[in-house]
Amino acid sequence: MYRALNFNAGPAALPEEVLKEAEKSLLNFGNTGMGIMELSHRSKEYQAVHDQAITRLRRLLAIPDDFEVLFIQGGASLQFSMVPMNLLGKDQAAHYVLSGSWSEKALKEADKIGETVISASSKDQKYSFIPKYSQDEIPDNAAYLHITSNNTIYGTQWQSFPSNKKTPVVADMSSDILSRPLKVDQFDLIYAGAQKNLGPSGVTVVIIRKELLKRSSEMLPVMLNYNTFANNNSLYNTPPTLSIYLLSLVLQWAEQIGGLEQIEKANEMKAKMLYDVIDESEGFYIGHAHKNSRSRMNVTFNLQSEDLSREFQKQAKEAGFVGLGGHRSIGGCRASIYNAVPEHHVEKLAAFMKAFKNNN
Ligand code: PMP
Repeated sequence: MYRALNFNAGPAALPEEVLKEAEKSLLNFGNTGMGIMELSHRSKEYQAVHDQAITRLRRLLAIPDDFEVLFIQGGASLQFSMVPMNLLGKDQAAHYVLSGSWSEKALKEADKIGETVISASSKDQKYSFIPKYSQDEIPDNAAYLHITSNNTIYGTQWQSFPSNKKTPVVADMSSDILSRPLKVDQFDLIYAGAQKNLGPSGVTVVIIRKELLKRSSEMLPVMLNYNTFANNNSLYNTPPTLSIYLLSLVLQWAEQIGGLEQIEKANEMKAKMLYDVIDESEGFYIGHAHKNSRSRMNVTFNLQSEDLSREFQKQAKEAGFVGLGGHRSIGGCRASIYNAVPEHHVEKLAAFMKAFKNNN
């Protein structure tokens, strides 16, 4: 079967095993005579799928009992609004570290809800590194500190996280959740759109410390209040059943291949293959991210001219590579190497990059 060399930034490659398993469930799930997306969301068969997805996520990430796992629609973009709507009180300010376009978008939504402060930013350096911030400057009554753990567009990634001892830490982990072991307890709210490491688009995972649920005002619209999801096991209304089923299969796959330690090792190896080509290219490929902020999920680089970059992408496309164009806002090239991108695809890309350099 033909499978593309898929380096898309999201929606992105899914494990082949997952797709094969899902294929069987489209027509007849568990001998019900119905496809998975034909089941009632109130049926015991769907309920089991839903609960299993939550159980698997809890197990993989070792999510402590004082956190809720919620499945919400609206993408990570809706979380840009829901976070401040639920957590930002009148006499407080929400602090944002700007490390890329997605953090800017998150800040813009929070600005509409209440007071915000930019704790640090690397905008004037084209978001080429994770900015330094001083936690001492964050006042005691700050509502939360918001970070973006991996910057999908610029290819930078936090290597260690701020402490949440004084201020709750909220993290947009859309593009690196499940890519490495994580101490959930270091955070107070984590959110991630599924369409990179978790599954297909359509579901957003929110992991929230139960204590924070007390902050939401009862005046919030019901579908924008985290408590609606927490109190109803994310089944207040019809959830995206197919997306949650696929999420569950991806989580099963992640467990089967050895969990987050193994996944981290594989990701380190894949990223090293591409960064080594960049570093050994004597300036032919110019990495966007500073070395100490490099992302293991999105490898961003430029060539010496727009023309060369266009030629690189043209030849890459001819050679069967998909998704190597940089985000439309910054151009250049980007290889997204999420968990499900096989090592041998990355090997092929590294070899292609070397050959292209030698020929040009
Ligand atoms: N945050 C990050 C880090 C992202 O990469 C993206 C999407 N690429 C978003 C937020 C927005 O996600 P969505 O399209 O699910 O709203």
